[in-house]
Amino acid sequence: KKRIFSGVQPSGNLTIGNYLGAIKNWIPMQDEFECLYCVVDLHTLTVRQKPAELRQRSLNLLALYMACGLDPKKSTLFIQSHVSAHAELAWILNCYTYIGELNRMTQFKDKSQKHSDNINAGLYTYPVLMAADILLYQTDLVPIGQDQKQHLEITRDIAERFNGIYGDTFVVPEAYIPKIGAKIMSLQEPEKKMSKSDENENAYVFLLDSEDAIMRKFKRAVTDSEREIRYDVEKKPGISNLISIYSATTNKSISEIEKEFEGKSYGDLKEVVGQSVVETLKPVQQKYNEYSANKDYLNAILKENADKAAYIARKTLSKVYRKVGLVPRG
Ligand code: ATP
Ligand code: MG
Repeated sequence: KKRIFSGVQPSGNLTIGNYLGAIKNWIPMQDEFECLYCVVDLHTLTVRQKPAELRQRSLNLLALYMACGLDPKKSTLFIQSHVSAHAELAWILNCYTYIGELNRMTQFKDKSQKHSDNINAGLYTYPVLMAADILLYQTDLVPIGQDQKQHLEITRDIAERFNGIYGDTFVVPEAYIPKIGAKIMSLQEPEKKMSKSDENENAYVFLLDSEDAIMRKFKRAVTDSEREIRYDVEKKPGISNLISIYSATTNKSISEIEKEFEGKSYGDLKEVVGQSVVETLKPVQQKYNEYSANKDYLNAILKENADKAAYIARKTLSKVYRKVGLVPRG
């Protein structure tokens, strides 16, 4: 079976971007592949976090993973910091990554503009930790949104470089990017992707938002001054985003949707898209409430799954340590 690794940062509550662009596609993969889905908490430290909130968000994210349909019996669901090999391999890989490569990462440019008071080294080497996450598990396929494509490329480059020096050590992973709903944009600035860490709460819809909040955010969504409902990302980013969201929640094609809304107003579109999101999220919210109430159950899952992940990770790390010339502990 091919192996899959992917993760989400507990840097905020999950948005419909994370869901429609990532997690939703992970559900059917569980039956076909051997999957590891991680709560990548170490990555969130690149931005200042409130400790108590971070802790809570990591557990909530696990509950939300399960509410979305990730099954801890089928997949390994775990927290990154519970498997110390992530940080250990990241150090080694740092020494096989060039500054010039990191300088080209657009996420670093975006995030260092946003957090200009705290441009720390972790923010800069973020892609190396992500490479370690993936390579530790000898991952074949990495399901990610379009926004992470560049990070997967650098992961492949690092793996190939290491393999070139020391012989086959890492599986070189492939990106698995779904065609539709792959990138959900901000409802306020539709040229930018929707992010759970956006300061403007009207920019995103959280999976746990109430019906009222969801409808209000869609009503306020930024569109354009025309009247025609047509998919055109360049000229009509706001309307196109609403169409993609509707398509991802209903499985209707873009052209079906354009037909459905012929002669209708932007207000009608917003109403219908909002409703379809509310309906999509209802069962997720129900299950989330059940799981998140049961802390003992969540903790038991975390422990068991971290052990499983650590076992695989340790094998890769030992191999790497041996290849680069570190003395085995015996
Ligand atoms: P942050 O703002 O803290 O970076 P984020 O919303 O970008 O949060 P991540 O944890 O960085 O979320 O990414 C988790 C997964 O969700 C990744 O696979 C990423 O590609 C995907 N993803 C993030 N935002 C979007 C989006 N707007 N549309 C589609 N997929 C997305
Ligand atoms: Mg992100």
